[in-house]
Amino acid sequence: MKLDRRKFIQQAGLTAGAVLAGNYVYPAENPGITHILSLSFDDGFARSFIKTADIYEKYGLKACFNVIASGGTPGFKGVDDYILPGTMGDFDLWNELQDRGHEVMPHSYKHANLTQIPMEEVKDLFTRCMDVFADQLKGFKPENSIYNFPFNASNPEVESWIGKRVMAFRTAGDLVNPMPDRKRKKLTCISQGPDNIDDYLSAQVDKFLGSAGGWFIFNTHGLDGEGWGPLSSGLLDEMLAEFVEMKHVAVLPVGTAYRQFG
Ligand SMILES: [Zn+2]
Repeated sequence: MKLDRRKFIQQAGLTAGAVLAGNYVYPAENPGITHILSLSFDDGFARSFIKTADIYEKYGLKACFNVIASGGTPGFKGVDDYILPGTMGDFDLWNELQDRGHEVMPHSYKHANLTQIPMEEVKDLFTRCMDVFADQLKGFKPENSIYNFPFNASNPEVESWIGKRVMAFRTAGDLVNPMPDRKRKKLTCISQGPDNIDDYLSAQVDKFLGSAGGWFIFNTHGLDGEGWGPLSSGLLDEMLAEFVEMKHVAVLPVGTAYRQFG
């Protein structure tokens, strides 16, 4: 698989280049970009997120980090076998990564499944999450944020209530979204786990690069064995090296893509 990646990508690039000669419409300020690729890293693992940021920076790219508001606090009890206390970063780290140009967005207050609790509790947890972010993340404003649903679990009622309070939200659905549009607040993604996702992600990326285009949002987690559905740092490095050579591909955090193209 890995040996074939570069060859495949070059062919996919030629295919997508041909699309540019057709009727594909893309924003004038982003000439030639037909494929937006967002890897949306969840949960807030300190070790993995630092490593992820370092790899993105090798290529002058910005990573997309979604963190649990209470994850780095002493009272955080963890969520399951993958989101464990003591492994999460805190807002000192999130501010540092943001200062380095990466995007940090909310991934709930404590990672409760919002489809399994009463609406009053949904509102309370959402408000607490936003209060923590506004208080602790420099420059944070809910109306400029992407809210990333825990477990990518949502329903029309929570989407409607939360959707009015954020720039956009990310939940489960199709992997490939239409190009960003400010009128569309619902962004969808897929994820994969609990084991290593290298082969799965690689196949999804190849399929996307061979398509006419759109906005690929894949929900990733930790690196090298950490978290649910971890990705290998070597593959991440290899993929980013390939993407930056492709002029029709933009690798962007979700919020940045939404603002820049929407
Ligand atoms: Zn999560």
